Amino acid sequence: MSMPAQKLDDPIEVEARRLLLSLMYVDCSADRKWNIATCREIAPLTLEINRLKREKNAVILTHSYVEPEIIYGVGDFKGDSYYLSEKAKEAKADVILFVGVVFMAETAKILSPGAQVVVPDRGSGCSLADSITGEDVRRLKALYPDAAVVCYINSTAEVKAESDVCVTSSNVYDIVIGLPEKRILFVPDRLMADNVRKELANRGIEKEIISSDGTCVVHEEFTPAQIDEARAAFPGVKVVAHPECTPEVAELADFLGSTSAMMKYVKSTDAPYYLMLTECGLVSRLEVEDPEKNFIGGCRLCPFMKLNSLQKIHDALSDPQPDQIITIDEDLRQRAAHCIDRMFELAPSN
Ligand code: SF4
Repeated sequence: MSMPAQKLDDPIEVEARRLLLSLMYVDCSADRKWNIATCREIAPLTLEINRLKREKNAVILTHSYVEPEIIYGVGDFKGDSYYLSEKAKEAKADVILFVGVVFMAETAKILSPGAQVVVPDRGSGCSLADSITGEDVRRLKALYPDAAVVCYINSTAEVKAESDVCVTSSNVYDIVIGLPEKRILFVPDRLMADNVRKELANRGIEKEIISSDGTCVVHEEFTPAQIDEARAAFPGVKVVAHPECTPEVAELADFLGSTSAMMKYVKSTDAPYYLMLTECGLVSRLEVEDPEKNFIGGCRLCPFMKLNSLQKIHDALSDPQPDQIITIDEDLRQRAAHCIDRMFELAPSN
C-alpha cells in the first residue's frame, strides 16, 4: 500500500496509520471502507476521545457488536456484556463509558456503583431486555410462587432485582440444572428457554421451564433454510449460532455458544468457510483478529447497537447529558447485585 510521504511527527497522521493497521482487514464492502483516507477523517476524533479518556480517568467498554472503528479506535476492552462488566469493576475508573446497549451499562453500574456510568445514546435499548418490566416479573412470581426466577443477563436492572439468579449464555445450563427447584421461571428470552428445555430433555433432566415472551430481533430471524442453502453452496462450511436463535436453528448448527465461545470456536477450528448466525459486529471483529478465515455472510445488524458512533462517544465523554448518565435506586441496585452475585456463587468460572 503506497502512501504519500508525511511527517510522522504529525499526531493525526500517526493516529490515522494506527487506525489503518487495526481496521485494514474489515471488509465492509467490495470497496474496502477503511483506507488511509477514511482513517485520516476519523483520526482527529479518536485522538480527542483518547485524550478525554486520560483526562477524566475513564474507561471505554465496547461490545463486540459495535462498529470496528469504535472497538479499535477508542475501546479499552472488547467483548460480551458479562466480560465487560467484570472489566469495569477491575478498572476502578471514575467514568465508565459503555458502548453497547443500555441494559449492559446498567449491569456495569450495578457492579461499579461508585463510578459514573454513561452511554452514548439513551435510545440504544434491546428488544429482549425491554420485553418485560419488573412489574411483569412480580405478576409471574405471584402465578408461580414455587418457581426459581432465572433471568438472562440481557435484562434490565429492575428485572434482575426481581430475580433469584442471573445467567449468561455460557452458564445457563449448569445453573438451571444445579438449582434445587423443579420449576423455573425463565425471563426474558423465550427462544433461549426453548433451547434450555430441549437440552434438559436431551440430558434426561426433569424440570419445568416457564418463560416470558421476549426475543432478540437479530437472532430470531435466522432460519433452517438459510443453513441448508449455505451447506449446499459452501461444502464444509461450519455453522456457528448463538443460543438466542430458535431451537430449529440451534439443532442444525455445528456450534452453539455465547459471543466469546463463538469467537474461541472459530479461532480454534480449521474450516474452509464459516456461517455466523449472529450480529455482524462479531464477524467484523473476527475479520480483524483472524483474517485468514472466510465468512460467507448471513449475519444481521442489531439496530440498537448501531446507534453508537464516535461523535456520540465524544459528546458523552466531554459533557454527558442527564439522559446519558445511568442512575439506579440503591435498594434496587443491591437486589440486582444479589442476583448477579448468586450467579458467581453457582458458576464461579462463568
Ligand atoms: S443483538 Fe439482540 S439481544 Fe443483543 S442488543 Fe441487539 S436486540 Fe438486544
